[in-house]
Amino acid sequence: MQSLTNRSKVVVKKEMSFAEKLYLPAVAKGMMITMSHLFKKKVTINYPEVERPRAEVYRGQHVLKRDENGAERCTACGLCAVACPAEAITMEAAERKKGEEGLYREEKYAAVYEINMLRCIFCGLCEEACPKEAIFLTDRIVPTEFEREDFVYGKDKLVEPNEKNERVNIAPRQAQSTIDFKKNPEYAHNQLWDPNKKIGPKKGH
Ligand code: SF4
Ligand code: SF4
Repeated sequence: MQSLTNRSKVVVKKEMSFAEKLYLPAVAKGMMITMSHLFKKKVTINYPEVERPRAEVYRGQHVLKRDENGAERCTACGLCAVACPAEAITMEAAERKKGEEGLYREEKYAAVYEINMLRCIFCGLCEEACPKEAIFLTDRIVPTEFEREDFVYGKDKLVEPNEKNERVNIAPRQAQSTIDFKKNPEYAHNQLWDPNKKIGPKKGH
């Protein structure tokens, strides 16, 4: 049958020669390849002791932000969950009670807010959809776990600390340096618009 891609190869079962039946040349060749790699620069690193530098636009673990007074910004509108292509976000809304003004910025808040990190593809669409600047992706790596349920992050892991000096700084992801970074040819995949290649969204869109 004609192949659709023309990439398929016809496999022929041929008799092995005497040298091939000995296997020794193949073993010696394999050892040579192994030895040659001993003197090359290692492509692996000792993670987590050593980490590779990450781009400022790296999209890692999310944070649910508080406002300047420490109240949670999220109003459980659900737009992030609707925008999420992986259906990784779930939440339950609740009504703010009298006296809770310092805890929640608006009358409705997320009593439960969960992101399944195993489903998340770190596309950042939740961040773009949020009208309250409540959810951001950060430069933090999601740590490894041994149980699947431990990857379902609740508010205990997502909401940033109340102490001002421990808040998660998301400013570098939106700074001029980030925009400049996107112009680096090495990270061309981050560019939205390349006038030479004529790819990406057009100016003004
Ligand atoms: S980054 Fe993308 S996949 Fe992950 S929770 Fe947000 S919208 Fe969903
Ligand atoms: S994080 Fe933003 S988009 Fe998602 S529910 Fe809260 S306010 Fe709405």
